Amino acid sequence: MDLTRPDGDGQPGEDTPRSTPPPAQASELAIGFGPPPRRGRAAVPQHLADLDPAGRRELAAAAGEREFRAGQVAGHYFARLADDPGDWTDIPAGSRQRLADALTPRLMTRERSLLADHGTTVKDVWRLTDGALVESVLMRYPGRDTVCVSSQAGCGMNCPFCATGQAGLTRNLSAAEIVEQVVAAARSVARGQLPGGPGRLDNVVFMGMGEPLANYRALVHAVRVLITPAPDGLGLSRRHVTVSTVGLVPAIDRLAGEGLGVRLALSLHAPDDELRDELIPVNTRWKVDEALDAARRYFEATGRRVSIEYALIRDMNDQVRRADLLARKLKARGGPGWVHVNPIPLNPTPGSKWTASDPAVQDAFVATLLRQGIATTVRDTRGREIDGACGQLAAQV
Ligand code: SF4
Repeated sequence: MDLTRPDGDGQPGEDTPRSTPPPAQASELAIGFGPPPRRGRAAVPQHLADLDPAGRRELAAAAGEREFRAGQVAGHYFARLADDPGDWTDIPAGSRQRLADALTPRLMTRERSLLADHGTTVKDVWRLTDGALVESVLMRYPGRDTVCVSSQAGCGMNCPFCATGQAGLTRNLSAAEIVEQVVAAARSVARGQLPGGPGRLDNVVFMGMGEPLANYRALVHAVRVLITPAPDGLGLSRRHVTVSTVGLVPAIDRLAGEGLGVRLALSLHAPDDELRDELIPVNTRWKVDEALDAARRYFEATGRRVSIEYALIRDMNDQVRRADLLARKLKARGGPGWVHVNPIPLNPTPGSKWTASDPAVQDAFVATLLRQGIATTVRDTRGREIDGACGQLAAQV
């Protein structure tokens, strides 16, 4: 559900078994756990979005081209969203393909697109260069376009109600593989491929496959690229980028100190450790109170209101007494304004015993939070029929 990774020493690839480390054990690595994308002989080519401008210039020079060409290619990639080197008319024709091969190698191929909500929700399944599958979901709302991206192929957090978690972790994505999902969405929007005509991609949420903070280094680099002004980056507003997490406390604190100013969403799903240990196995490592304290510190460090994501699961976590406990824990950490709760009707997963709460129960849960002065908005579940909503991204082709 979190569209929420480090630097283990495993190697991804077709011959690599999926690894699903027990979260408590994995969390000892503190920040990021999962095989990194393989380089070198490698399945995952280096791409300009993996590098800063100086690194891009070195890559251009290594390809036998003038260093400043790297800046031109970045402009085509980020600002003009031009993926055909034939359109790079400010670059000599003889250099275009060589620069494209060196700086913007193909990282993923669209395997399948599924439409829902009259075409305003598009789930793309992408095949990466080593065969791993990831998904992104583009959603058009009135006045804004949002893409939900994956940060890992699969997820190692093992949350029992989540389709992604059931399949285990294949590997971390590279920064460029994350950015490329956003650029692909921006192209779709700019080229008028959604009903209503061309627009500009506004929002990025890391709520696809994976736990973003478990792929910390790639996540932070990708976010920097997204918010760096064009032509060196995509130039998105930092307020319009949301990183979600199940509560990797050291990584939340580290993120707060990066100076990125992006939004944080904590997938809480239960206000008490007894239940949360069951719903979010990593809670056995970092408890509810520790996660909420880290969320509050994030707010204090960044000034960004934190979202608490709460999937409402029938007869599991949807009782009024739990809404009341959640409200009390949030209020104990500060007055209104630091936090916002988003209850989410659970998306059914095939073959799962977990299902959404009754509407009346959901209403009572929300009313309890509101009565205690907690800003609360039920989040919609776009893309439910194409398994494109939270907890449903399992990369089936
Ligand atoms: S298993 Fe699912 S809900 Fe849990 S962190 Fe991973 S993607 Fe999110």
